[in-house]
Amino acid sequence: MQNHFRYIIQGAGASGLWLAHSLNEAGLLEVDQLLIIEGDANKANDRTWCFWGKAGEHNFSFVDAKWPSLKVQGNVQSIAPYQYCHARSEGFYRGMREALLKNTNVFWLNEWVNQATAVEKRVNVQTNQHNLTADYFFGSGQWNSKIKLGDIALWQSFVGWRVRLINQTWEANAATLMDFSIPQSNSTRFLYVLPLNSHEGLLEVTQFHPERLLKEEGEAILQQICLERGWEVEVFEVECDAIPMSPAFNQLESHHNAGARIIEIGISAGALKPTTGYGFLTMRNHALQIARALKTGNLLPRIYRKRRFRFYDALLLQMLEENPHRGKDIFERLFNKLPARLVLKFLDEKTAIWEEIRIFSQLQIAWFLKAVFQYAKR
Ligand SMILES: Cc1cc2nc3c(=O)[nH]c(=O)nc-3n(C[C@H](O)[C@H](O)[C@H](O)COP(=O)(O)OP(=O)(O)OC[C@H]3O[C@@H](n4cnc5c(N)ncnc54)[C@H](O)[C@@H]3O)c2cc1C
Repeated sequence: MQNHFRYIIQGAGASGLWLAHSLNEAGLLEVDQLLIIEGDANKANDRTWCFWGKAGEHNFSFVDAKWPSLKVQGNVQSIAPYQYCHARSEGFYRGMREALLKNTNVFWLNEWVNQATAVEKRVNVQTNQHNLTADYFFGSGQWNSKIKLGDIALWQSFVGWRVRLINQTWEANAATLMDFSIPQSNSTRFLYVLPLNSHEGLLEVTQFHPERLLKEEGEAILQQICLERGWEVEVFEVECDAIPMSPAFNQLESHHNAGARIIEIGISAGALKPTTGYGFLTMRNHALQIARALKTGNLLPRIYRKRRFRFYDALLLQMLEENPHRGKDIFERLFNKLPARLVLKFLDEKTAIWEEIRIFSQLQIAWFLKAVFQYAKR
């Protein structure tokens, strides 16, 4: 294998593969070469990605279920023009890899990157076995080495079961997004019920708390839920992980400096919305923007979010850090008093100020004013 590449991407996860795909689609790999370095030799079906978009907007081949409606507080609501989409990481990894394998300018290395250092117009990349160079290095997957533990306000933990229903069937036309009718235990906890068809689906407990939810705890909750709801299930996959809910990854500038050669992507680049953990489509958009900038010679973009949305997130995080159980009341109010499609638009950070005033007028003003006061004191 050669030692120099135009581009090196560290990590064949969500952001790494989105970027490789975008470089390929933009024609940047017709002549130039890309090396993807992934350390995990057993990368398989390690997570589920859900996201929403307008119908027809995200016709990705790896999406294996879509719902036009959401079940919120027991009521089914259409979310038109949106659809809620579900993809298993296995399908995404396979689909992206298959497309990239067709390009002989894309190389793969199964090693861990130890260090990447910019030296003039190049980046020296050291793995456990190779010394390589690249014109551009894109790094994902090492967000935990980039911030201090104290910067993480809360963890968003997931424990999910992919199940087969044995004794009854589900209505598969609506996904349950945030069902708070489960024990909260001084945290914010909710259940996703994503029926993939009438007898198969994903049950996932999600928790916001300063401590991570252990697998055993999550599984005990799922067991109890199944018992209470009379669902006799066969569990054939378990998903368990946690992501940081922190404003520490916020990008305060919209672009990198001219000449930047080491570019963060994914979580460490601020892809996750701190209060929801959604970020899959943000990573895709960032990848498309990077490819466009490389093609046109413009400054490379950061994942920049409007200040007011960063402020709203900071308030909610502060409130939840002090009172981890309050998420239930806040999110239940949001979904009870407002159309789900407006809530989704708000979580997408695409609402106008007048829509945000409507949203905040439905929330617990006293809590938010207190949080504003405390935020100002920081
Ligand atoms: C269980 C779970 C469910 C989630 N569900 C959703 C969801 O429904 N919707 C949504 O929008 N977001 C979701 N997220 C959040 C987010 O989309 C994912 O965490 C996403 O995978 C983050 O992408 P990434 O590229 O930053 O990291 P990853 O996808 O984790 O990829 C990083 C890759 O880099 C590799 N790597 C790390 N260090 C090195 C190194 N030194 N050398 C070589 N390789 C290295 C890792 O092995 C890994 O494969 C979820 C997260 C989790 C954990």
